[in-house]
Amino acid sequence: MKSHKLLMIPGPIEFDPAVLAAMSVPTSSHTDPAFIQTFGEALEKMRTVFQSPSGQPFIVAASGTFAMDVAAANLIEAGDRVILLNIGYFSERFGEILERYGAQVTQIKAEIGNRPDPQQVEEELKKGGYKAVYFSHVDTSTGVLNDVPTLARLAHQYGALCVVDGVCSIAAEELRFDEWGVDVAVTASQKAIGVPPGLALWMVSQRALEVCRNRKTPVPNYYGDWLKWLPVMQAHEARQFDYFATPAINLIRSLNVSLSQIVAEGMENRYARHRKMSRAFKAAMTALELDQIPVSEEVAAHTLTAVRYPQGIQAGEFLPRVAQEGVIVSGGLLPPIKQEYFRVGHMGNISFGDLIGTISAIERALSSLGYHFTIGSGVAAAQRAYQESEAV
Ligand code: PMP
Repeated sequence: MKSHKLLMIPGPIEFDPAVLAAMSVPTSSHTDPAFIQTFGEALEKMRTVFQSPSGQPFIVAASGTFAMDVAAANLIEAGDRVILLNIGYFSERFGEILERYGAQVTQIKAEIGNRPDPQQVEEELKKGGYKAVYFSHVDTSTGVLNDVPTLARLAHQYGALCVVDGVCSIAAEELRFDEWGVDVAVTASQKAIGVPPGLALWMVSQRALEVCRNRKTPVPNYYGDWLKWLPVMQAHEARQFDYFATPAINLIRSLNVSLSQIVAEGMENRYARHRKMSRAFKAAMTALELDQIPVSEEVAAHTLTAVRYPQGIQAGEFLPRVAQEGVIVSGGLLPPIKQEYFRVGHMGNISFGDLIGTISAIERALSSLGYHFTIGSGVAAAQRAYQESEAV
């Protein structure tokens, strides 16, 4: 028996022992040259993970919501017009944040499980006057994946910035910040970055920094003011000390270990491995004749799978039953369909064995709750899909 249950939710995820060990050392001073070196290295590695030699990386003690909050606070001034693509719960949150800072938000909402058609986005952009397009790369409530390169290209074509909530995508889904022309991409430590909760990470293009510098009004958020943090990030990357607020020293040590692992794997390998795991898990759910929330494979994320319960199976009995088998999965999140589906995260350094163990736990739970299917058919389908992707 493992000493803990396998955490297969869409964040926080299972953390590597080396990442956890890096946290449990005596806390140094934030002025210690060894820590300045670690912080600087982590910022450099963020450039590789976001594929952004030219952007500005930030690492701040906070959660992902804070990174979203300041992606609005630093760019928006009262009355600015923005487009928000709504594909679920976290898109709604981005909308609320934007309105809090006085943005005039035009929402383009997709039906549940789908994403807005780029043509619709272009029609709206054509009307003119939009400062930015905000959207989630992956909305964790629906498991829907947005098409970042197309949306970034459209935003720029019409003179708008492109701001991406990558909390459930970065370091797992393909994201080429510089090449695709993304202006802000935000994430948090506890998902594919692979570090316990507590760090917000984000990248800002030089163009977006310029927009912030040229504001008429001060950034209405003190701790989140990009320009307060900028000298600190620049100093550490140059292996010098600077202070705005005390960094999360132990978490940053962990972050540097996790980012080293990610960089060593290589971004292309990492994207491919997440696609492969996702394909195998989704093949298992299909074999069990369980539907998914995303309307097609094309719009489905590779970091998690959102699965509909079969007729007669209730969240309240299913989730604890899977936990009894040693695996934690999540319930639904999007209010109108919350009770109708569950979510399984498969990002970070999980093994294929972890995935098979999860499918097996789901099968055993379904079977004990009276769902009729051939036991082992999900596991077998995952094995086949995994082998097929290896042959490619
Ligand atoms: N955006 C997305 C897509 C998320 O999945 C989450 C967290 N589940 C957030 C934003 C908010 O991040 P946090 O909980 O770290 O504030």
